[in-house]
Amino acid sequence: MKILVINCGSSSLKYQLMDMTDESVLSKGLVERIGIEGSILTHEVPGRDKEKIQTPMKDHKDAIANVLNALTDEKIGAIKSYDEIDAVGHRVVHAGEKYSGSVIITEDVINALEECIDLAPLHNPPNIIGIRATMELLPEAPMVGVFDTAFHQTMEPEAYIYPIPYELYEKHKIRRYGFHGTSHRYVSEKAAEMLGKDIADLKLISCHLGNGASVTAIKGGKSVSTSMGFTPLEGLAMGTRCGDIDPAIVTFIMEKENLNINQVNNMLNKESGVLGISGVSSDFRDIETAAKDGNERAALAIKAFDRRVKRYIASYAAVMGGVDGIIFTAGLGENSPTNRLAITDGLEFMGVEMDIIANDFRGSAKIVSKESSKVKVLVIPTNEELMIAKDTLELVK
Ligand code: AMP
Repeated sequence: MKILVINCGSSSLKYQLMDMTDESVLSKGLVERIGIEGSILTHEVPGRDKEKIQTPMKDHKDAIANVLNALTDEKIGAIKSYDEIDAVGHRVVHAGEKYSGSVIITEDVINALEECIDLAPLHNPPNIIGIRATMELLPEAPMVGVFDTAFHQTMEPEAYIYPIPYELYEKHKIRRYGFHGTSHRYVSEKAAEMLGKDIADLKLISCHLGNGASVTAIKGGKSVSTSMGFTPLEGLAMGTRCGDIDPAIVTFIMEKENLNINQVNNMLNKESGVLGISGVSSDFRDIETAAKDGNERAALAIKAFDRRVKRYIASYAAVMGGVDGIIFTAGLGENSPTNRLAITDGLEFMGVEMDIIANDFRGSAKIVSKESSKVKVLVIPTNEELMIAKDTLELVK
């Protein structure tokens, strides 16, 4: 069975065509600058050179039509016709409290996702547009929605409720939802495999450290706490997002800096995090280089970031009454041995013993704690596309 995975952003679209008989990637790619001058499709078939196709793409339907053309093209394609695509899995950011797992997309599901637009105004609209466009172009293929929030729907009320007037939860659904659910689910299942244990018996802490970053406590395969909240702004310091701050800072800076709601939103989402502290970049590679060159604010940004991850790990171990495995994933988690060491430094009291030599690598799945370590530390490259394809297969089978 061949499954197309689609992940629509506001002006971009990522895709991956997978053959689920062996979970191999037949083709993948990215469309950028949708609806803007200079639209470009980068298309890849493993083992061949990447193709760059520059053609105007006025909307997501145009973009998906171009992707389907590339996939079925005689020279650069991976399949002969649209009919070979048996199903489509869509990444959707926010499903509110409605779905705790992936579902076959129907008109009712789309309506439910539209109701969540208020909760994810930047993400859900392009996701929905992508679903509708794909339905038009591939009317025979069943569509499945895989939601970033779904995995965290297992949190108990005490984990998701905010200490503000309860009526605001009832009226506006203000509560913790959590994000990166597909990634946390994937790496936790993979960790159980690597440890040779049943996930039902494990307490895991998954650290998804990329440009967006979150930590999740996973007990018996279920999310019990997660650092992102009502929006993906809460929790860790991120590339450009502030994460946890005293909420009084918001009104204070609005007054002192004379900022309106949009401006303060922009500051907290786009000008904060490690970019805000360092003043150098939102990319850890640039910040690490600057820190090595003696830039003190860059060094401070890294230390502040690592400290928060450590704080979440320790507090989640307490929430679960212990921890068997700590997982590092996403750009920084998979690729930065120094940050992994800095984050786990001081966690020896919990039974974490890092293997400095094993940890000195990047980019594949590996246990990086010592044999004797009570708590195992694992590096696991995330694969949200595979998880989406697996869910899609499961539902359409
Ligand atoms: P992601 O959002 O998962 O694609 O992660 C992107 C982030 O990972 C980048 O902004 C970098 O900060 C970080 N990253 C990727 N590769 C490295 C590396 N080799 N060393 C340090 N950080 C890295």
